[in-house]
Amino acid sequence: ATAAYDDGNIFARILRGEIPCNRVFEDAHALAFHDINPQAPHHVLVIPKGRYVSWDDFSARADDAEIAGFVRAVGHVARAAGLVAPGYRLLANVGRDAHQEVPHLHVHIFAGRPLGPMLA
Ligand code: 5GP
Repeated sequence: ATAAYDDGNIFARILRGEIPCNRVFEDAHALAFHDINPQAPHHVLVIPKGRYVSWDDFSARADDAEIAGFVRAVGHVARAAGLVAPGYRLLANVGRDAHQEVPHLHVHIFAGRPLGPMLA
């Protein structure tokens, strides 16, 4: 079960243009912008335009076109930034124990330094 979507969350407000973001990409399915508190030299967030709380919610409820569009947008953002070599990391936190702070699905893209092993 997934918590109800909160239209007041900060990324919903960014999607509505109520608060600014440093945008790097936008299409019909996705918006990508720089994280306000970057954890790597390159730290971008990619969010779907639909109302999805998390990866769990999105993967269960989104239609195939939304899923394909979002996955391709994540890949496009990484390729466009030249991150494919030497590499980058994708991360999506889901829920409280994973420290998800914003209840709208976001995929983090980290790059620009050696990222080390994944934390447990
Ligand atoms: P989470 O912990 O939910 O996976 O990550 C939320 C991310 O959103 C954090 O890295 C945080 O810095 C970022 N963030 C929170 N509020 C804003 C905002 O208003 N603008 C931008 N660009 N990033 C934000």
